[in-house]
Amino acid sequence: MSKKKNKKVNKLLVYVLVLVAITIIAILFSAKQKPEAVNSIAKEDVAPIITLKNDTVILPVGGKFAVTATATDTEDGDISSDIKASEIDTNTAGTYEVTLEVIDSAGNKAVAKQNVIVRAELTNGLPVLMYHFFYDNVTYYQEDNNWLNINDFEEQLKYLTENEYYYPTWEEVDQYIDGKIKLPEKSVVLTVDDGDASFFDLAVPMLQKYKVPATIFVISEWYGWRYNANMECVIFESHSHSMHESGGNGKGRMVNWSKEKIIEDLKLSSKTLGGADVFCYPFGHYDDTAIEALKETGYKMAFTIVGGRVSVGYNKYTLPRVRVTAGNSLNYFASSVR
Ligand SMILES: [Zn+2]
Repeated sequence: MSKKKNKKVNKLLVYVLVLVAITIIAILFSAKQKPEAVNSIAKEDVAPIITLKNDTVILPVGGKFAVTATATDTEDGDISSDIKASEIDTNTAGTYEVTLEVIDSAGNKAVAKQNVIVRAELTNGLPVLMYHFFYDNVTYYQEDNNWLNINDFEEQLKYLTENEYYYPTWEEVDQYIDGKIKLPEKSVVLTVDDGDASFFDLAVPMLQKYKVPATIFVISEWYGWRYNANMECVIFESHSHSMHESGGNGKGRMVNWSKEKIIEDLKLSSKTLGGADVFCYPFGHYDDTAIEALKETGYKMAFTIVGGRVSVGYNKYTLPRVRVTAGNSLNYFASSVR
Protein backbone atom coordinates (compact mmCIF):
# COMPACT_ATOMS: atom_id res chain seq x y z
CA MET A 1 0.00 0.00 0.00
CA SER A 2 2.70 2.48 1.02
CA LYS A 3 4.99 1.43 -1.86
CA LYS A 4 2.21 2.12 -4.34
CA LYS A 5 1.68 5.54 -2.78
CA ASN A 6 5.42 6.26 -2.97
CA LYS A 7 5.49 5.37 -6.67
CA LYS A 8 2.61 7.77 -7.30
CA VAL A 9 4.43 10.55 -5.41
CA ASN A 10 7.64 9.89 -7.33
CA LYS A 11 5.82 10.12 -10.66
CA LEU A 12 4.22 13.39 -9.64
CA LEU A 13 7.62 14.76 -8.56
CA VAL A 14 9.13 13.92 -11.95
CA TYR A 15 6.26 15.69 -13.74
CA VAL A 16 6.70 18.78 -11.57
CA LEU A 17 10.48 18.82 -12.08
CA VAL A 18 10.11 18.52 -15.87
CA LEU A 19 7.56 21.32 -15.88
CA VAL A 20 9.83 23.57 -13.80
CA ALA A 21 12.79 22.79 -16.10
CA ILE A 22 10.77 23.63 -19.21
CA THR A 23 9.59 26.89 -17.66
CA ILE A 24 13.18 27.91 -16.71
CA ILE A 25 14.49 27.09 -20.18
CA ALA A 26 11.64 29.07 -21.75
CA ILE A 27 12.37 32.12 -19.55
CA LEU A 28 16.11 31.97 -20.22
CA PHE A 29 15.52 31.57 -23.93
CA SER A 30 13.14 34.53 -24.21
CA ALA A 31 15.42 36.73 -22.06
CA LYS A 32 18.34 35.92 -24.31
CA GLN A 33 16.41 36.40 -27.51
CA LYS A 34 14.65 39.69 -26.83
CA PRO A 35 17.60 42.16 -26.54
CA GLU A 36 19.28 40.57 -29.54
CA ALA A 37 16.20 41.14 -31.62
CA VAL A 38 16.13 44.84 -30.62
CA ASN A 39 19.87 45.21 -31.25
CA SER A 40 19.66 43.81 -34.73
CA ILE A 41 17.07 46.44 -35.63
CA ALA A 42 19.27 49.20 -34.13
CA LYS A 43 22.25 48.01 -36.14
CA GLU A 44 20.34 48.44 -39.33
CA ASP A 45 18.38 51.60 -38.66
CA VAL A 46 19.59 53.93 -35.91
CA ALA A 47 22.34 56.44 -36.79
CA PRO A 48 24.16 58.45 -34.08
CA ILE A 49 23.04 61.99 -33.26
CA ILE A 50 25.39 65.02 -33.13
CA THR A 51 24.36 67.86 -30.82
CA LEU A 52 26.07 71.27 -31.15
CA LYS A 53 27.01 72.98 -27.89
CA ASN A 54 27.06 76.43 -29.49
CA ASP A 55 25.51 77.50 -32.78
CA THR A 56 28.70 79.43 -33.49
CA VAL A 57 32.24 78.83 -32.28
CA ILE A 58 34.36 82.01 -32.02
CA LEU A 59 38.16 81.90 -32.29
CA PRO A 60 40.97 84.47 -32.39
CA VAL A 61 43.16 84.54 -35.51
CA GLY A 62 45.61 81.64 -35.19
CA GLY A 63 43.39 79.90 -32.62
CA LYS A 64 42.79 76.16 -32.70
CA PHE A 65 39.34 74.77 -33.49
CA ALA A 66 38.27 72.17 -30.96
CA VAL A 67 35.10 70.12 -31.22
CA THR A 68 32.58 71.13 -28.55
CA ALA A 69 29.69 69.13 -30.04
CA THR A 70 28.65 65.81 -28.52
CA ALA A 71 27.51 62.59 -30.20
CA THR A 72 25.35 59.82 -28.81
CA ASP A 73 24.37 56.51 -30.33
CA THR A 74 21.63 54.03 -29.36
CA GLU A 75 24.03 51.09 -29.21
CA ASP A 76 27.45 52.71 -28.58
CA GLY A 77 26.41 55.37 -26.07
CA ASP A 78 28.54 58.52 -25.89
CA ILE A 79 30.84 58.60 -28.95
CA SER A 80 31.70 62.34 -28.77
CA SER A 81 35.42 61.59 -28.84
CA ASP A 82 35.00 59.94 -32.27
CA ILE A 83 33.76 63.15 -33.92
CA LYS A 84 36.02 64.22 -36.80
CA ALA A 85 36.10 67.86 -37.94
CA SER A 86 37.05 69.16 -41.39
CA GLU A 87 40.10 71.46 -41.55
CA ILE A 88 39.86 75.27 -41.59
CA ASP A 89 42.57 77.93 -41.93
CA THR A 90 42.36 80.01 -38.74
CA ASN A 91 45.17 82.34 -39.86
CA THR A 92 42.68 84.41 -41.81
CA ALA A 93 39.77 86.20 -40.16
CA GLY A 94 36.38 85.26 -41.55
CA THR A 95 33.37 83.01 -41.22
CA TYR A 96 33.81 79.32 -41.85
CA GLU A 97 31.75 76.17 -41.85
CA VAL A 98 33.24 73.06 -40.32
CA THR A 99 31.76 69.66 -41.15
CA LEU A 100 31.50 67.32 -38.18
CA GLU A 101 31.24 63.60 -38.83
CA VAL A 102 30.87 60.57 -36.63
CA ILE A 103 30.44 56.88 -37.48
CA ASP A 104 29.07 54.29 -35.03
CA SER A 105 30.30 50.71 -34.66
CA ALA A 106 27.63 49.48 -37.10
CA GLY A 107 28.88 51.89 -39.77
CA ASN A 108 26.04 54.43 -39.51
CA LYS A 109 27.22 58.01 -40.15
CA ALA A 110 25.94 61.32 -38.77
CA VAL A 111 26.97 64.69 -40.22
CA ALA A 112 26.52 68.20 -38.78
CA LYS A 113 27.65 71.69 -39.77
CA GLN A 114 29.34 73.99 -37.25
CA ASN A 115 29.61 77.73 -37.87
CA VAL A 116 33.02 79.16 -36.95
CA ILE A 117 33.96 82.84 -36.72
CA VAL A 118 37.68 83.62 -36.79
CA ARG A 119 38.21 87.12 -35.43
CA ALA A 120 41.21 89.43 -34.91
CA GLU A 121 42.77 89.02 -31.47
CA LEU A 122 41.78 91.16 -28.50
CA THR A 123 44.42 93.86 -28.00
CA ASN A 124 42.82 96.48 -25.73
CA GLY A 125 42.21 94.33 -22.67
CA LEU A 126 39.36 92.14 -21.44
CA PRO A 127 36.40 93.88 -19.81
CA VAL A 128 35.16 91.95 -16.77
CA LEU A 129 31.80 93.54 -16.01
CA MET A 130 30.65 94.06 -12.42
CA TYR A 131 26.91 93.96 -11.66
CA HIS A 132 25.11 93.90 -8.32
CA PHE A 133 21.31 93.93 -8.04
CA PHE A 134 18.29 94.05 -10.37
CA TYR A 135 14.81 95.55 -10.12
CA ASP A 136 11.56 95.41 -12.06
CA ASN A 137 9.38 97.81 -10.01
CA VAL A 138 7.07 94.87 -9.28
CA THR A 139 8.95 92.57 -6.92
CA TYR A 140 12.15 94.58 -6.49
CA TYR A 141 12.66 98.34 -6.36
CA GLN A 142 15.74 100.44 -7.02
CA GLU A 143 17.63 101.43 -3.88
CA ASP A 144 20.74 103.02 -5.41
CA ASN A 145 22.86 102.99 -8.58
CA ASN A 146 23.92 99.38 -7.92
CA TRP A 147 20.36 98.39 -8.84
CA LEU A 148 19.92 97.93 -12.58
CA ASN A 149 16.54 97.91 -14.30
CA ILE A 150 16.01 94.40 -15.66
CA ASN A 151 14.89 95.86 -19.01
CA ASP A 152 18.25 97.65 -19.31
CA PHE A 153 19.98 94.36 -18.50
CA GLU A 154 18.02 92.65 -21.25
CA GLU A 155 19.03 95.41 -23.72
CA GLN A 156 22.68 94.79 -22.81
CA LEU A 157 22.38 91.02 -23.27
CA LYS A 158 20.64 91.59 -26.60
CA TYR A 159 23.50 93.88 -27.66
CA LEU A 160 26.14 91.29 -26.72
CA THR A 161 24.20 88.54 -28.52
CA GLU A 162 23.54 90.51 -31.71
CA ASN A 163 27.21 91.51 -31.86
CA GLU A 164 28.29 87.89 -31.28
CA TYR A 165 30.41 88.51 -28.21
CA TYR A 166 32.69 85.78 -26.90
CA TYR A 167 32.52 84.71 -23.24
CA PRO A 168 35.84 83.15 -22.18
CA THR A 169 35.89 80.63 -19.32
CA TRP A 170 37.93 81.39 -16.17
CA GLU A 171 40.49 78.88 -17.37
CA GLU A 172 40.85 80.86 -20.59
CA VAL A 173 41.10 84.15 -18.68
CA ASP A 174 43.86 82.58 -16.55
CA GLN A 175 45.77 81.47 -19.66
CA TYR A 176 45.18 84.82 -21.36
CA ILE A 177 46.76 86.70 -18.42
CA ASP A 178 49.70 84.27 -18.58
CA GLY A 179 50.09 85.05 -22.30
CA LYS A 180 49.50 81.38 -23.17
CA ILE A 181 46.42 81.98 -25.34
CA LYS A 182 44.87 84.83 -27.30
CA LEU A 183 41.27 85.91 -26.98
CA PRO A 184 39.16 87.12 -29.90
CA GLU A 185 38.06 90.76 -30.16
CA LYS A 186 34.67 91.37 -28.56
CA SER A 187 35.38 89.13 -25.56
CA VAL A 188 33.63 89.95 -22.28
CA VAL A 189 33.05 88.35 -18.86
CA LEU A 190 29.97 89.08 -16.76
CA THR A 191 30.23 88.99 -12.95
CA VAL A 192 27.56 89.75 -10.36
CA ASP A 193 28.47 90.47 -6.73
CA ASP A 194 26.74 89.12 -3.60
CA GLY A 195 24.23 86.73 -5.20
CA ASP A 196 21.06 88.08 -3.67
CA ALA A 197 17.52 87.03 -4.63
CA SER A 198 17.04 89.71 -7.33
CA PHE A 199 19.80 88.11 -9.37
CA PHE A 200 18.21 84.66 -9.26
CA ASP A 201 14.63 85.86 -9.74
CA LEU A 202 15.17 88.48 -12.45
CA ALA A 203 18.61 88.16 -14.07
CA VAL A 204 19.06 84.38 -14.35
CA PRO A 205 15.99 83.87 -16.61
CA MET A 206 17.40 86.63 -18.89
CA LEU A 207 20.84 85.01 -19.02
CA GLN A 208 19.21 81.70 -19.92
CA LYS A 209 17.00 83.33 -22.55
CA TYR A 210 20.06 84.79 -24.32
CA LYS A 211 22.39 81.90 -23.38
CA VAL A 212 24.93 84.32 -21.86
CA PRO A 213 27.02 82.88 -19.01
CA ALA A 214 27.63 84.96 -15.86
CA THR A 215 29.65 84.37 -12.72
CA ILE A 216 27.97 85.04 -9.41
CA PHE A 217 30.34 85.96 -6.59
CA VAL A 218 28.31 84.55 -3.72
CA ILE A 219 28.56 85.40 -0.04
CA SER A 220 28.33 81.71 0.73
CA GLU A 221 27.15 82.02 4.35
CA TRP A 222 24.14 84.02 3.19
CA TYR A 223 23.34 82.65 -0.25
CA GLY A 224 25.50 79.52 -0.65
CA TRP A 225 22.42 77.31 -0.31
CA ARG A 226 21.46 78.46 -3.80
CA TYR A 227 24.38 76.51 -5.18
CA ASN A 228 23.08 74.21 -7.85
CA ALA A 229 25.49 72.71 -10.33
CA ASN A 230 22.71 72.37 -12.90
CA MET A 231 21.75 76.05 -13.07
CA GLU A 232 22.32 76.79 -16.73
CA CYS A 233 24.44 79.89 -17.55
CA VAL A 234 25.41 80.51 -13.90
CA ILE A 235 28.93 79.96 -12.56
CA PHE A 236 29.29 80.08 -8.77
CA GLU A 237 32.48 81.63 -7.35
CA SER A 238 33.34 83.10 -3.95
CA HIS A 239 32.76 86.49 -2.33
CA SER A 240 33.93 84.90 0.98
CA HIS A 241 31.88 82.85 3.42
CA SER A 242 31.35 85.39 6.20
CA MET A 243 33.90 88.17 5.56
CA HIS A 244 31.40 90.49 3.88
CA GLU A 245 31.13 92.48 7.13
CA SER A 246 33.23 95.18 8.68
CA GLY A 247 35.93 94.34 11.17
CA GLY A 248 37.38 96.33 14.08
CA ASN A 249 38.62 99.37 12.15
CA GLY A 250 35.49 99.75 10.00
CA LYS A 251 37.18 98.04 7.04
CA GLY A 252 36.26 94.53 5.82
CA ARG A 253 37.00 91.45 7.91
CA MET A 254 39.41 90.28 5.24
CA VAL A 255 41.88 93.01 6.23
CA ASN A 256 41.21 92.52 9.96
CA TRP A 257 41.29 88.79 10.57
CA SER A 258 44.39 86.61 11.03
CA LYS A 259 45.63 84.63 8.05
CA GLU A 260 44.52 81.36 9.72
CA LYS A 261 40.99 82.67 10.21
CA ILE A 262 40.84 83.96 6.61
CA ILE A 263 42.03 80.58 5.29
CA GLU A 264 39.35 78.81 7.30
CA ASP A 265 36.69 81.11 5.80
CA LEU A 266 38.02 80.69 2.24
CA LYS A 267 38.04 76.89 2.53
CA LEU A 268 34.50 76.84 3.90
CA SER A 269 33.29 79.12 1.11
CA SER A 270 34.81 76.93 -1.59
CA LYS A 271 33.35 73.81 0.03
CA THR A 272 29.88 75.38 0.30
CA LEU A 273 29.98 76.32 -3.40
CA GLY A 274 31.25 72.96 -4.62
CA GLY A 275 34.80 74.11 -5.40
CA ALA A 276 35.34 77.83 -6.03
CA ASP A 277 38.73 79.10 -7.28
CA VAL A 278 37.97 82.67 -8.36
CA PHE A 279 37.46 85.30 -5.66
CA CYS A 280 36.00 88.76 -5.27
CA TYR A 281 37.14 90.89 -2.28
CA PRO A 282 34.27 92.00 0.00
CA PHE A 283 34.07 95.82 -0.35
CA GLY A 284 37.18 95.53 -2.53
CA HIS A 285 39.34 95.46 0.64
CA TYR A 286 42.54 93.41 0.54
CA ASP A 287 46.16 93.38 1.72
CA ASP A 288 49.23 91.11 1.45
CA THR A 289 47.88 88.72 4.12
CA ALA A 290 44.60 88.35 2.22
CA ILE A 291 46.48 87.56 -1.00
CA GLU A 292 48.71 85.00 0.76
CA ALA A 293 45.62 83.28 2.21
CA LEU A 294 44.03 83.09 -1.25
CA LYS A 295 47.18 81.58 -2.77
CA GLU A 296 47.46 79.02 0.03
CA THR A 297 43.86 77.88 -0.41
CA GLY A 298 44.14 77.40 -4.17
CA TYR A 299 42.22 80.44 -5.41
CA LYS A 300 43.72 81.33 -8.80
CA MET A 301 42.39 84.87 -9.30
CA ALA A 302 40.84 87.67 -7.25
CA PHE A 303 38.92 90.76 -8.31
CA THR A 304 38.88 94.21 -6.78
CA ILE A 305 36.41 97.01 -7.47
CA VAL A 306 39.11 99.14 -9.13
CA GLY A 307 38.00 100.23 -12.60
CA GLY A 308 39.78 98.92 -15.69
CA ARG A 309 40.27 96.02 -18.09
CA VAL A 310 42.28 92.85 -17.53
CA SER A 311 45.44 92.51 -19.64
CA VAL A 312 48.32 90.11 -20.21
CA GLY A 313 50.81 90.00 -17.33
CA TYR A 314 48.48 91.53 -14.71
CA ASN A 315 48.72 90.50 -11.05
CA LYS A 316 45.99 87.85 -10.81
CA TYR A 317 45.13 88.80 -7.21
CA THR A 318 44.39 92.49 -7.86
CA LEU A 319 42.35 92.31 -11.06
CA PRO A 320 40.24 95.34 -12.09
CA ARG A 321 36.66 95.34 -13.39
CA VAL A 322 34.30 97.53 -15.35
CA ARG A 323 31.38 98.66 -13.18
CA VAL A 324 27.95 98.68 -14.79
CA THR A 325 26.06 101.56 -13.19
CA ALA A 326 22.32 102.09 -13.45
CA GLY A 327 21.07 104.98 -15.56
CA ASN A 328 23.72 104.83 -18.29
CA SER A 329 22.65 104.53 -21.94
CA LEU A 330 23.11 101.45 -24.10
CA ASN A 331 25.68 103.45 -26.12
CA TYR A 332 27.68 103.96 -22.93
CA PHE A 333 27.50 100.22 -22.22
CA ALA A 334 28.58 99.43 -25.79
CA SER A 335 31.62 101.70 -25.46
CA SER A 336 32.63 99.94 -22.25
CA VAL A 337 32.82 96.53 -23.94
CA ARG A 338 34.10 97.60 -27.37
ZN1 LIG B 1 29.76 92.63 -2.18
